[in-house]
Amino acid sequence: MKAQVIAGYGRHYLVDIGSTHPLQAYPRSKRSEYAVGDWVTLERASNDQASILALEARKTLLYRSDAYRQKFLAANLTQLIVVVATEPHFSEEFLGRALVAAGSIDLPVQIVLNKTDLTTHLAASQQRLAYYATLGYSLHRMSATTEPAQVRDVLRPLVTGHTTLLIGQSGMGKSSLLNLLVPDAQARTQEISTALGSGKHTTTATRLYRLNADTALVDSPGFQEFGLHHLSKSELEHAFADFTPYRGQCKFHNCRHDSEPGCAISNAVKEGEIAPQRQQLFGQLLHESEARLV
Ligand code: GDP
Ligand code: ZN
Repeated sequence: MKAQVIAGYGRHYLVDIGSTHPLQAYPRSKRSEYAVGDWVTLERASNDQASILALEARKTLLYRSDAYRQKFLAANLTQLIVVVATEPHFSEEFLGRALVAAGSIDLPVQIVLNKTDLTTHLAASQQRLAYYATLGYSLHRMSATTEPAQVRDVLRPLVTGHTTLLIGQSGMGKSSLLNLLVPDAQARTQEISTALGSGKHTTTATRLYRLNADTALVDSPGFQEFGLHHLSKSELEHAFADFTPYRGQCKFHNCRHDSEPGCAISNAVKEGEIAPQRQQLFGQLLHESEARLV
């Protein structure tokens, strides 16, 4: 039987087999780890339980990592939506890391600026995001609480036919947006938490909400650290869209784009072509990459 992993906690997964209630599933092999979005082959053990026999090849796998281990975000995604808001102040570092994680696996990204009804920081937020729009990321402005109908009209066509991961720092309005697209999200979340075993942790688990045969939304919990230790220098360079025009133009072929003479990236920053915080983020990520312990 084929099924899709819709949530997981520890070695305990919930899988969707197309019927109304998800099944509990346990890996047969102790070493296996699955991501939300994975397609697996199951053997049913009882009415509500199954064991996972095999994993279907993943089309994509998005993950973060610290120096020691990888943390799956989701598998088989076809796009990422990053939610930011006019307030509270969003972190450009979080946004940048999300863009790099997606860029490293060539996953398209849409940026949503929510809470446009709060106008005090609206212009400043748009200005901070304008740079990313020039890099080719689509930017969508909306207000989940004051214009829910417009939000649905904008987001529905964007997510239809896709498996989309929604991420954002907490407080940006991600849940509000999700609830507009998945009206029974709260009931489904409750069902998943109950089936995973009640407890605080399961309410913050990553969850997949299938809307129809070819459309699904994945909601990820807020997380503090968006480490990308697993990306090599060339993968990082590939994921920085703004670095592309300067590839191969540094004086030294092993340039770290930091303070080397003849660095094309540093020159582009001086000329105002690349935002300084992008060079800084690259330096941080390169440092993480080199601090990898496994
Ligand atoms: P999450 O932590 O990203 O899931 O954010 P929530 O959806 O829980 O929203 C955080 C807070 O922002 C809640 O109090 C929401 O009511 C509020 N909020 C969400 N969207 C909007 C919006 O478009 N405008 C305003 N003014 N408040 C919003
Ligand atoms: Zn350089």
